[in-house]
Amino acid sequence: MKHNKEAVGVTRDQTIPNQTATTPRRGPPSISIERLIDRLTVLSQITATPGEGITRLAFSPEDKRGRELFITWLTSSDLSVREDQAGNIFGRAPGKDPGAAPMLLGSHLDTVPQGGAHDGALGCIAALEVLTVMSEAHLVPACPVDVVVWADEEGCRFGGGFLGSQIFTHTFPAESLARTDGEGVSYADALQSWGLDPLRVETSGTRTRGYLELHIEQGPTLERLGIPVGIVQGIVGMVGLELHLEGRAGHAGTTPMDARSDPLLAAAEIALACEAMAQVAGNDTVATVGTLRVEPGASNVIPGACDLSVDIRSGSEAGLQQAERGIRDAIDDVMQRRRIRGRVNETLRLPPIRLAPRMQDALSHACSRAGVPIHRMHSGAGHDAMILAHVTEAGMLFVRCRGGVSHNPAEYAAPEDIRTGTQILLDAVIQLTDAAPAL
Ligand SMILES: [Zn+2]
Repeated sequence: MKHNKEAVGVTRDQTIPNQTATTPRRGPPSISIERLIDRLTVLSQITATPGEGITRLAFSPEDKRGRELFITWLTSSDLSVREDQAGNIFGRAPGKDPGAAPMLLGSHLDTVPQGGAHDGALGCIAALEVLTVMSEAHLVPACPVDVVVWADEEGCRFGGGFLGSQIFTHTFPAESLARTDGEGVSYADALQSWGLDPLRVETSGTRTRGYLELHIEQGPTLERLGIPVGIVQGIVGMVGLELHLEGRAGHAGTTPMDARSDPLLAAAEIALACEAMAQVAGNDTVATVGTLRVEPGASNVIPGACDLSVDIRSGSEAGLQQAERGIRDAIDDVMQRRRIRGRVNETLRLPPIRLAPRMQDALSHACSRAGVPIHRMHSGAGHDAMILAHVTEAGMLFVRCRGGVSHNPAEYAAPEDIRTGTQILLDAVIQLTDAAPAL
């Protein structure tokens, strides 16, 4: 099969710099950007939609092939491989004290439909590169270090997401196993078809020394600032609302404007209120109306009912509360003014998650040593790190991605930025695991 590397956002070109030229003399050993990009490219060729982005839905045949390939890489780096009953893969370097609590490094290999080559895959391959380079440099960590592939992070097939990390941390709602995909296959069935039983997960995430995840930013901030990496200090809290608005359907030609009760106009005002309230709340607060359904939906009928969603996110609890209060007040006001009946249902409420200061400090020291500006930021998207943060000290490093584009075949991160990010991850891991030369 002819494969177009440019189409999946992975290129190996002449712009990869000579590593030795930029390696600090007494810093950590150098990662191999060539090996890393080669792996990213090979993995990106495993997709259900060749030429149209990367599609490895969780527990699909492509997901299985991607995982099998990754396991061969873990094995070739002399890591001992284990898979738990949730489908999480662990590749372990034993360290000086194999009985000590392990440090975890990882991300996910599943993708959204027609996604990009870097979301998740980059974090797994960078984690593997870190352990590979440490082994090649005969640097032995004081504790075991695991490269982890979390199962079903994206949640595209069954909804929800974060299955593997939630099961690992014992935060997975068991009733979710009854969820079904578009073809009626349940979560539990999909796991069982792979010989997995999530109710029998034998590992406990509570005995963990810490977790670090490298991930593309999936937003435009680093590119706007001209900085290759960002240290994630927290993951935004989220509030989800679903609104059902009822007015009075009528003839679009015969009903005077002052005799109408139009729920679509109410929805339009609510959408504008979301924009305004997010701006007032500050703290990087954002609010989005992402769905809108109008009934009966005819060009010559004043709408009779309207359903819409509101998604509010903020890095601070105060910002989240202020925006939600403002939006709810606006909804009440608009409904009263426009004589609209209806209801507001809450569909999601997650508090902001703060990532561990110790992990942020290790990453910022590594940035300083690499001569890279230190930029701390919030993640507007959910990641496995926010699940791990419930049971251990978790940290994340973002790598700049072109145009902030993700969940899209055009997703792209420059090899030089990937090299910088992975080098910083390596330095942080050496610090955090007290890695020292083998005697
Ligand atoms: Zn991801």
